[in-house]
Amino acid sequence: MANRPIIFLRAIVLRCPYCGSGGTFRHWFGMKARCPSCGLSLATGNRVGANLLNLVAAEVLLMAAIVTVVVRRWPNPPWDTLQIAAPLLMVVTPLVLYPFSKMLFVAIDLAMHPEAAPDANVHGVGS
Ligand SMILES: [Zn+2]
Repeated sequence: MANRPIIFLRAIVLRCPYCGSGGTFRHWFGMKARCPSCGLSLATGNRVGANLLNLVAAEVLLMAAIVTVVVRRWPNPPWDTLQIAAPLLMVVTPLVLYPFSKMLFVAIDLAMHPEAAPDANVHGVGS
């Protein structure tokens, strides 16, 4: 099994964290149940954690963007623009981050439980 930085890099580019192959999503919001190449389970047990990761990441990015705009434009921040942009970004950001958070949580799960990898018993991963 690849080391942890490789696992997370693969997840960030939406590839299977275990084998690095693509094709793990049917569409932007639809992850396949298993990796088509290695058979790693992608769907089981990661819904709550992945959604939590998605919402936290979206909120942090949104707050960072708002604070950046306010600080850079101080003493006259564009409040009218922020009143429209902030709620819009609050909806759009989790949708954009959705597949990344799903795949990152699969990577987190794989890093924490390497014994769940498809051929862990064959190669003695985790020992
Ligand atoms: Zn795979």
